[in-house]
Amino acid sequence: RGTPKYSGMVEDCCCDYETVNHLNEEVLYPSLQELVKTPFFRYFKVKLWCDCPFWPDDGMCRLRDCSVCECPDSEFSESFKKPHRLSMNGLVCQEGKPQAAVDRTLDSKAFRGWTEIDNPWTNDDETDNDEMTYVNLQLNPERYTGYTGPSARRIWDAVYSENCPKYPSQESCQEEKILYKLISGLHSSISIHIAADYLLDEATNLWGQNLTLLYDRVLQYPDRVSNLYFTYLFVLRAVTKAADYLEQAEYDTGNPNEDLKTQSLMKQLLYNPKLQAACPVPFDEAKLWKGQSGPELKQNIQQQFRNISALMDCVGCEKCRLWGKLQVLGLGTALKILFSDNGQENLGQALQLQRNEVIALMNLLNRLSESVEFVRKIGPTAERIIEGH
Ligand code: FAD
Repeated sequence: RGTPKYSGMVEDCCCDYETVNHLNEEVLYPSLQELVKTPFFRYFKVKLWCDCPFWPDDGMCRLRDCSVCECPDSEFSESFKKPHRLSMNGLVCQEGKPQAAVDRTLDSKAFRGWTEIDNPWTNDDETDNDEMTYVNLQLNPERYTGYTGPSARRIWDAVYSENCPKYPSQESCQEEKILYKLISGLHSSISIHIAADYLLDEATNLWGQNLTLLYDRVLQYPDRVSNLYFTYLFVLRAVTKAADYLEQAEYDTGNPNEDLKTQSLMKQLLYNPKLQAACPVPFDEAKLWKGQSGPELKQNIQQQFRNISALMDCVGCEKCRLWGKLQVLGLGTALKILFSDNGQENLGQALQLQRNEVIALMNLLNRLSESVEFVRKIGPTAERIIEGH
């Protein structure tokens, strides 16, 4: 079971690869797949039009007309909407590609607000306003979109080099290393979703798996696989730590049958005896921020993560921006749960989550779970084929 290359404990975590693979395959993956289809979890509120705070002249971000327009059609003239006109200006309109377009389902009725409370780890202002859209995530799977080249590279470079230095040196403290690993794990997961659902032939619109891409971007680097498992366990720990809160939360969408199902799926997931027996504490957050400089370090890392969150507004492909924003909010929510000040016992009272944060958290866990499952199932075959043995 699982890629034989990976055995023993996942670095910096409290579970081993075999247990994670087994738990994910048997328990978490099937439950999460069902959960994210429920009405509560399939709509995500997001401000998709980017207001990139870093590069005012970034070509990609100016291409509002490339996205599926939220405005009345009459607002833009026909010629302005055509992608080829933009190409003539030397800009490549990623969102002219159908696979990059966001398919919106406006159903604000299904989305009733919980508390509106700020998340100190993220940049977004979640207050409802006219710029928010409701996106049906089921209609917008994370997969290959054609977004590549300098615009995509610039985001990843900024995420890694400006905000989250790599840690070949021993100087880097444990907390910074963790921030790096979370981002790297998310990056692996995004690459795995691209490989799992790739446009193999544009002419015939043939989609399928791209094992070479999976190998080239992820499998050939053991640390990227390890970071994926780390991120998965980190988010899982946040979900189980907030279990009491999440169990009592209201999953009300005005559809009693569906809402009961959501509640019961959440309970199954949060208090699963197999999970509690095999991996009760997937990550031990108590050991962090211990030294004298703990509070200052926490503030710095919080600011770094907020910058990463703001960078998502610079992602120049709308569907990638949607999943980038959702997953960074999910990570920010996990950080908020694990590092809220009041310690574990008081978490129930201290913690307040926005509805959107819970949606992001569980959808992120599902994405990571899909990636772990893909690596477990397809990884060994891809390695055999590509390494030629
Ligand atoms: P990239 O994936 O761009 O990587 C750039 C560099 O980062 C690599 O050369 C390597 O040095 C380093 N690196 C790569 N992976 C890791 C890792 N796991 N850990 C540490 N370092 C690493 N494209 C889509 O088709 N669909 C999407 O949904 C999508 N979503 C995106 C979301 C965001 C937030 C961003 C920034 C980009 C997204 N993209 C998406 C683009 C995609 O991630 C790649 O940037 C693009 O496919 C080009 O890939 P690349 O081979 O140049 O390497």
